[in-house]
Amino acid sequence: MSETTQLAPELQARIDRLVAQATPAPMLSRAEKAALEEEIRTLLKARNAVLVAHYYVDDALQRLAEETGGIVADSLEMASFGARSEAEVLVVCGVRFMGETAKLLSPEKTVLMPALEATCSLDVSCPPEAFAEFIARHPDHTVVVYANTSAEVKALADWTVTSGNALHIARHLAERGEKILWAPDRHLGRWIERETGVEMTLWPGHCIVHDEFMAFELEKLRQRYPDAKVLVHPESPENVVEMADVVGSTKVLINAVQTLPDRRFIVATDYGIFYKMQQLAPEKELIAAPTGSRERQCQSCAHCPWMAMNSLVNLRDALRNMAPEVHVDPAVRERAVRPIQRMLAFSREAGLIR
Ligand code: SF4
Repeated sequence: MSETTQLAPELQARIDRLVAQATPAPMLSRAEKAALEEEIRTLLKARNAVLVAHYYVDDALQRLAEETGGIVADSLEMASFGARSEAEVLVVCGVRFMGETAKLLSPEKTVLMPALEATCSLDVSCPPEAFAEFIARHPDHTVVVYANTSAEVKALADWTVTSGNALHIARHLAERGEKILWAPDRHLGRWIERETGVEMTLWPGHCIVHDEFMAFELEKLRQRYPDAKVLVHPESPENVVEMADVVGSTKVLINAVQTLPDRRFIVATDYGIFYKMQQLAPEKELIAAPTGSRERQCQSCAHCPWMAMNSLVNLRDALRNMAPEVHVDPAVRERAVRPIQRMLAFSREAGLIR
């Protein structure tokens, strides 16, 4: 049985505090949006900058990224696109670890973030000092961390993985007879264990968005729409994952909507992804999977409060002021980039990325 304990109460309290402090994007009129978009287009050219946006940020930012030659992608593709880009400035619309990863892979570029203070509960749940102690207690393990971690935590790891390549890398390490220490998402860790049969030692973090999907409520929705296929991100609880027709990364779920013949889908991941799904498959009907928060105090309601901090206003300001900029200590970078490059080389060889 894999080791997980409860998240330390002070870490849970810190996550709750940061959720409460997250400021959502301001409401804007159509005219205000149009004026901001125009200014952003001009500034992108003037700064030789490119937008790199995650699937979970606001539709307007995703649209603008695509229209101006940038990308909308998962965290791995965001970072590798940034490294391939000829732009001098990368503007990362997402959360802090994404900006850091972009900087790790493109140290010569200026990396700006409209919302540098936007964090992630997985990142917060795994502070480097506590994680270093955890590693020290398991000295004979290979340390594998999810992309959703700080540069300092990546610097402690042997491998970085994403939900798109985690199964492949876990199998590869198990075939080499290595014991795996996994952090920080416990649900994703358990899913990897079930899918691969590889036992791992787990850190007890969770994503506050996916953790809220409820199996009981989902079953009621499934009974109402028996023809719908259920798509679930593996950061969701085990009993929700068990109800899925398709489990996988954001890319896998988008691909399922696009390629499966079914017309209706219940989607258990951040609803920001609906923009891309609807763009690629406009004829399909998408239904948001229910979260526990609807009837209780709403913490995220299937939308990441930190992703929601990215707006046209702070994007415009970042380009105007060339700030806030992402910096990574060069000594940390030297160590943090190794597990990422190992993952990228493996993923290319396995045909998972270009
Ligand atoms: S959706 Fe979850 S995993 Fe993604 S950034 Fe938000 S808290 Fe982190």
